[in-house]
Amino acid sequence: MDHAAAGHLDLARIRRFDGFGGLSPGDGYLFEPTSLDELRSVVLLAEELNVPITLRGSGRSYGDTSSPLESVTISLARMNRVLTWDKETGVIEAEGGATLEAIWQYVLQDGWWFNVVSGTMKPTLAGAVSTNIHGKNNLTHGTFAEHVEMVEIMLASGEVRQLVPSQPEFWAVHGGLGLLGIVTKVRFRLKKITSGNVRVVQRRVHSWADHFELFETFADADYSVSWVNGFTNGSGVFQAAWHGESSEPETLDLRHQIIEGKLAGLIHRDTAWKHLRRITNRPGMKLASALKSNAARISEGAPKVMSLVQYNFPLDYLPNWQRAYVPNGLLQFQAIVPTAHAENVFNELTRRWQSDKLEPYLVVLKKHRPDETWLRYLDHGYSLALDFRQTPRNAGALNNLYNEMAEVVLNAGGRFYFAKDGLLSPAQAQRSLGEAAIARFTALRDDWDPKRRFKTQLSCRIGLDECVQYARP
Ligand SMILES: Cc1cc2nc3c(=O)[nH]c(=O)nc-3n(C[C@H](O)[C@H](O)[C@H](O)COP(=O)(O)OP(=O)(O)OC[C@H]3O[C@@H](n4cnc5c(N)ncnc54)[C@H](O)[C@@H]3O)c2cc1C
Repeated sequence: MDHAAAGHLDLARIRRFDGFGGLSPGDGYLFEPTSLDELRSVVLLAEELNVPITLRGSGRSYGDTSSPLESVTISLARMNRVLTWDKETGVIEAEGGATLEAIWQYVLQDGWWFNVVSGTMKPTLAGAVSTNIHGKNNLTHGTFAEHVEMVEIMLASGEVRQLVPSQPEFWAVHGGLGLLGIVTKVRFRLKKITSGNVRVVQRRVHSWADHFELFETFADADYSVSWVNGFTNGSGVFQAAWHGESSEPETLDLRHQIIEGKLAGLIHRDTAWKHLRRITNRPGMKLASALKSNAARISEGAPKVMSLVQYNFPLDYLPNWQRAYVPNGLLQFQAIVPTAHAENVFNELTRRWQSDKLEPYLVVLKKHRPDETWLRYLDHGYSLALDFRQTPRNAGALNNLYNEMAEVVLNAGGRFYFAKDGLLSPAQAQRSLGEAAIARFTALRDDWDPKRRFKTQLSCRIGLDECVQYARP
């Protein structure tokens, strides 16, 4: 596809895109180039027509980070090749459209796994870079950026640059929310493993303080995470996990990782979301949360052995689970709160959502440390990721609750993860990022993209861009 062939914005290219939560729809002209030359043609077409570009990965961000504004919408779904793989050093280089799923399926049998991975395997490498994903081992392994050796980016001018960690801009592109240019290639380090299993220890927990204590007690674990019951005040299940032993090399086989068949021998995975939908309501989720804690009590004794994929990506085993929230939507809120304030803030958030009877149906607690990225969202502290069901009836009350909770978090010096946000106001988002960080990032955009070619609904909503044509759908 040369520049002339791209030609004009053909209406046949128009697609509706949405965030994973289904609450951030937007239309865009979809382009899926297959090479750097084709990609450059699309960028230059957008320049010629003076249309914004929105970059789109797998659309696994919950809110509007990759939602277009009638923009040229570029997906690298066809630039997804593994380019080099060194099974001695564990360094891999792939195009930005390669997914985490494709990467683990490529490297696992050679005995390698991600240093840092999200709770779903569906994101692209470019999406992982642009939101700078973290995993259940943030304290020991940092974020995705810390394992990248080189990131290649195409700027608004069509120029291609390769950035390495010693260059400051490397840390702007990671977590740069797709606003600096197109991530076309990533070279990163994987972690050596000798087993495709993890050994998981569970503890039932009855208060926020108990969770924090367990994160300390199990500081040597390879992974740690807590699942909290939003209908109680901080009770839940803490999990620590360690990579398995070298005595089970057969577990590195892909067949060991891929779970097929029916859930509990009864329900087909592909249609499980339909059953889930029946209980995705307040009474159903209250019961399900209580049952989860109870199940943990029974399995508290012996460590549980799980495959790496089953442990790391539990929600991927229920394909389309987010459709259980349809025709409404799933509103996510992920706040990171400094350690000293975490207990008070989490108590206060719980009090507010319970008094409004708007309990989150999924609550995940993790421990964190800061990193070097310019638009950093992490800090020394704990993050709470909350899944709320939004309906036409509760939307007003839920928006108010979200706003109140955001103020509580910000007043305690907390931050927000934009891959999981869809509602922060410009003032709140800017407090989260900090004035100095925004000024530094804006100066780089002035240099690399003075006409602000790269925009998203998020960048408009939080005031990083002025977008006259943008009205929230
Ligand atoms: C079930 C579930 C669990 C999750 N768990 C975690 C977790 O544990 N930790 C975590 O950190 N995140 C988690 N996430 C969030 C997810 O990892 C991030 O939102 C990730 O960025 C999604 O990648 P994507 O390819 O889908 O990108 P999208 O969501 O489509 O886009 C994300 C950002 O990347 C930009 N982008 C896309 N392509 C390019 C490109 N080629 N060049 C430059 N920028 C680009 C977009 O403009 C946007 O700003 C989870 C999401 C889900 C649905």
